[in-house]
Amino acid sequence: MGRPVRRNNKKPRKGNTQREFKPRAELVTKIAYEEGITVSELAEKLNKNSSDIIKLLFMLGKMVTINTNLDDETIQLICMEYNVEVTKEEAVDADSLEDVDLDDPKDLLERSPIITIMGHVDHGKTSLLDAIRKTKVVDGEHGGITQHIGAYQVTVNGKKLTFLDTPGHEAFTSMRARGAKVTDIVIIVVAADDGVMPQTREAIDHAKAAEVPIIVAINKIDKPGANFEKIYNAMADLGLTPEEWGGEVMFCKLSAKTGEGIQNLLESILVVSEVQDLKANPNRMASGSVIEARLDKGRGPVATLLVQNGTLHAGDILVVGACFGKVRKMTDDRGREIKDAKPSMPVEIIGLNDVPVAGDIFKVFDNEKKARALADRRSQVKIDAERKGSSSVSLEELSKAIEDGNLQEINIIVKADVQGSAEAIKQALERIEVATVRINVIRSTVGAISESDIMLASASNAIVMGFNVRPDAVVRRKAEEEGIDIRLYNVIYDAVNEMESAMKGLLAPVYKEVVLGQASVRQLFRVTKVGTIAGCMVTDGKLVRDAKVRIIRDGTVVYTSKLGTLKRFQNDAKEVAAGYDCGLTIDGFNDIKENDVIEAFEDREVPQV
Ligand code: GDP
Repeated sequence: MGRPVRRNNKKPRKGNTQREFKPRAELVTKIAYEEGITVSELAEKLNKNSSDIIKLLFMLGKMVTINTNLDDETIQLICMEYNVEVTKEEAVDADSLEDVDLDDPKDLLERSPIITIMGHVDHGKTSLLDAIRKTKVVDGEHGGITQHIGAYQVTVNGKKLTFLDTPGHEAFTSMRARGAKVTDIVIIVVAADDGVMPQTREAIDHAKAAEVPIIVAINKIDKPGANFEKIYNAMADLGLTPEEWGGEVMFCKLSAKTGEGIQNLLESILVVSEVQDLKANPNRMASGSVIEARLDKGRGPVATLLVQNGTLHAGDILVVGACFGKVRKMTDDRGREIKDAKPSMPVEIIGLNDVPVAGDIFKVFDNEKKARALADRRSQVKIDAERKGSSSVSLEELSKAIEDGNLQEINIIVKADVQGSAEAIKQALERIEVATVRINVIRSTVGAISESDIMLASASNAIVMGFNVRPDAVVRRKAEEEGIDIRLYNVIYDAVNEMESAMKGLLAPVYKEVVLGQASVRQLFRVTKVGTIAGCMVTDGKLVRDAKVRIIRDGTVVYTSKLGTLKRFQNDAKEVAAGYDCGLTIDGFNDIKENDVIEAFEDREVPQV
């Protein structure tokens, strides 16, 4: 039982250190706090001793220390106790990189484009990245050896271009899944002698999902056997109509091997980026994304950061994902130490307290305490999220979001065993019309559900639908990690129906099993024509006529069925409660043994989440 809390006449007691003791000062009547405030911070605001708060909470049954982060409810409670009005201040959100919008347009200056190269394996992504880097470093400024830091910059006609140096869409999507938007232009590489292949299509899906302009680079034109017409056709079918055909997509023919056509590609990038009118404000505290990060034995955590807004300076204090630190040393892609990094520039830094993850967002703070608190809070949030599993979408959640009017578009990835059904399902899904909600099939292809599907789903908040295809164990695990809902169907009608119901907020109810009771088999009677009758004692709960039952022998379920008959003495019984004998038969099962446990259960509808 709680005792009234003594607030007055506090005497410094033994163990109450002098440092912590504060004489009663003017009365605090109003405070504001930010999420994650600790006991000692709150005590300071309230002009109390931490020990008073600890004591108060102890009496309310809560054990805390001076470093415990308090939740809102507890803070309200403490403040009520002290008669102090309390308001919560919204915390600084390091997730938001949208502050480029908050910049005054007159502060915005042109920045260089950031480019990602994607395409089918062996079509020459790495060779192209190397070729661009080499040609430009040779006739580039200071020469020097280019370091691999995950991104590099080259100068073309006096303008800088930033290339992300991890080819392939895995890196691209996993960064996007983490919320990083680090690409302004995607180059899709296609080998002239091989044409459009499955990963080419995937790469295009990813680029489209990210709504980034695409340039097609037809590589290996030095090799015989190129069929440009075929590639143009295939690309046009995928929605990338070449400029030569009156479309909007630039196609560049080149050879990463001989270097032919590379300058033309670089100039095409300049053209596309000019249209994009990319801008940032270099005169503010920096923010951006992590491109790569690793632990170096000698130097500790090393991270490549891409500055996306502001200027990063040596000595800046920053929060990176759930990490925190100070830029102790900063080097560029040539390994030169630098003091400042402007927008679109990749730099390698040391000085973080931990290794962040590629795709994490970073932000510079002017206040070390704030930065540290935010990093702590974010690592806590991360731990909680990991505990709970990811927060991505399931059909049930979508259904709820639609009902609440919070959702206008549902992204779906369709995988099927044959092209015909993939196409049919896509069309059927996109035809569903429900009020303001629309279905957007972002990928519909033939084949097993793959990791790439899961990453795309994660990056685009999509649901994966499989028709006569199944994910393997690795993919299933990945989906669990990412919190992706995989729905498997054999019949198109079922899928369309379920989707429609979800969109109407009418998803079929979810059933949960509820155990009604258990009985123990004491005696057996075999009766011809009837089968085995089990004489039982109900040991827990009750048995109910027609209930579903399972027979448990030595802890293992040996059969699941339903009750055939349920009798008390010679009479049919509706139900038999604990402590009573009964006789019963089980539908389709005569092999009952003495000491078997009969467990009765039913499936009960549960409200949707
Ligand atoms: P990635 O898997 O897309 O990164 O492809 P790579 O860059 O590793 O290239 C795959 C293979 O194609 C390598 O053996 C390269 O030497 C070769 N290759 C790349 N570009 C060209 C090219 O323009 N012409 C020729 N003939 N071979 C090339």
